[in-house]
Amino acid sequence: MSDRETDALDGNAAAGAFGAVFAADVTTAVVVCAGCGHRDVFARLAVYARGPGVVVRCHGCDTVLARVVETPDSTWVELTGSASWRLPS
Ligand SMILES: [Zn+2]
Repeated sequence: MSDRETDALDGNAAAGAFGAVFAADVTTAVVVCAGCGHRDVFARLAVYARGPGVVVRCHGCDTVLARVVETPDSTWVELTGSASWRLPS
């Protein structure tokens, strides 16, 4: 098992960082990977939070789906690895 596999958390570990960005509970959001089309509920995605920032990866192909990095004066959000996010209303 690689170091990265042992460092993986589930999406619940990133719910705070991404919930603040979307102003919603993201744990039940369905995220579709732009790389392989795999779709998964956010709470089940692989999260790496050792910094800098919080990174969410696809279980299908390991693409970085999303990343949030907080700096003293900004929040950076990168979503290019995800094709869509379906947030329950
Ligand atoms: Zn994928």
